[in-house]
Amino acid sequence: MAIPADQIKDKLFYKQKNSSLRMSDEELAKAYEFCEDYKHYLDDAKTEREAVDVTIGILEKNGFVPLEYGKKYAAGDKVYYNNRGKALICATIGSRPLTDGLRIAIAHIDCPRIDLKPNPLYESSELAYFKTHYYGGIKKYQWTTVSLSAHGVIVKKDGTKVTVCIGEDESDPAFCILDLLPHLAREQSSRTLADGIRGEELNILLGSNCYRGDDISEPVKTNILNILFEKYGVTEEDFLSAELTFVPAAKARDIGLDRSMIGAYGHDDRVCAYTELMAILDTSAPEYTAVSVFADREEIGSIGNTGMRSELLRNFVNALCMAENLPSWLVLQNSKCFSADVSAAFDPTFPDVCEFRNTARLGYGAVIMKYTGSGGKSGTSEASAEFMAFVRSLLDSNNVIWQTGELGKVDAGGGGTVAQFVSDMDVDVVDLGVPVLSMHSPLEVVSKTDVYNTYLAFKYFFE
Ligand code: MN
Ligand code: MN
Repeated sequence: MAIPADQIKDKLFYKQKNSSLRMSDEELAKAYEFCEDYKHYLDDAKTEREAVDVTIGILEKNGFVPLEYGKKYAAGDKVYYNNRGKALICATIGSRPLTDGLRIAIAHIDCPRIDLKPNPLYESSELAYFKTHYYGGIKKYQWTTVSLSAHGVIVKKDGTKVTVCIGEDESDPAFCILDLLPHLAREQSSRTLADGIRGEELNILLGSNCYRGDDISEPVKTNILNILFEKYGVTEEDFLSAELTFVPAAKARDIGLDRSMIGAYGHDDRVCAYTELMAILDTSAPEYTAVSVFADREEIGSIGNTGMRSELLRNFVNALCMAENLPSWLVLQNSKCFSADVSAAFDPTFPDVCEFRNTARLGYGAVIMKYTGSGGKSGTSEASAEFMAFVRSLLDSNNVIWQTGELGKVDAGGGGTVAQFVSDMDVDVVDLGVPVLSMHSPLEVVSKTDVYNTYLAFKYFFE
């Protein structure tokens, strides 16, 4: 019997709808409430080190303890492993044997930012500056003329560590990178956008007062070093063993008259770190062992011993397997993973870079990217049809609002995530995360309902 014309589209077409129309008032209130704590997390965790510290604090409050190698764990046990203070893995042991596979979510906690060079301090025309080397993919001009805060550590030769955080408290000073006034920018304005502010022009303004006393050379640099010595007991040479970084000083805040969005530095990818963290906390008795990874170094290609190209995850799985003498490859082979990372949200001001049918939209829920990469699916893994069917079924049966997305038009550009490195470990993996506007800028924007639905996706995945 032919389907009547007034029903046929309803039956056969793939339909999507804005979350604000799909969610009940109660669900919307829950989503908005969830985002209040997320904003605090963003403000407290602006670097990967701070994210690890804050996350461990939350984990320990919820009964997670440091992983012990060789210990046999029982269902419901909660462990975490801190890798060099910059990457973190936690797990809640499931009721099934490890060889049935793990449920893994992997977010990254590093974000694009402005790092100091090893020998950064200089004075020019009685102004003191830091030389910097940016980290991750940024549009450099966006990082001038915004208030910046300083974060990081200085480790002295004797091993003592000084933790630095200046510019987050309202009473602290902030820092900034200067830009040329438009009146005198005729020559600069003829540069291309990418070249508008150059890497070596990203200099951090530090001070303008001279050290008082006898006429000395570099009096402003001297004064700055004296302030640092009095505050931290460090000298210029100590910068050689420091990790100091500058990030936007602004706090996360609601965006829009309807307060439907959050503007903040570092949604990519702390929005996935926070949602997968909350999801694992809310999973007390999982069937499959639930694993949340908080990785470093993603923004520069996951290279380094705290990034996902390292043996970090494999070593963690090995540690879980040791007591039972299980082969970790078998555990990994049967595991399923959400590479928890953000995607670009469609921006109607710049529609040309996207293909609308396959682009994530703000407010349409968690976004699943079957593949990323560029240039004919190069540099990416791709989720299989079978794994996509598993994910569809999981999310739809739990009423999670989700959508599919590609990172821009074919050949418009592209990008990658950790999915390919997880796939290399013989794990089924797909990217799932939150759509972001103005990604990698000092003020990224996400939708509160998308944040909440991403949390729900991880929660049902773990349960
Ligand atoms: Mn990311
Ligand atoms: Mn990124």
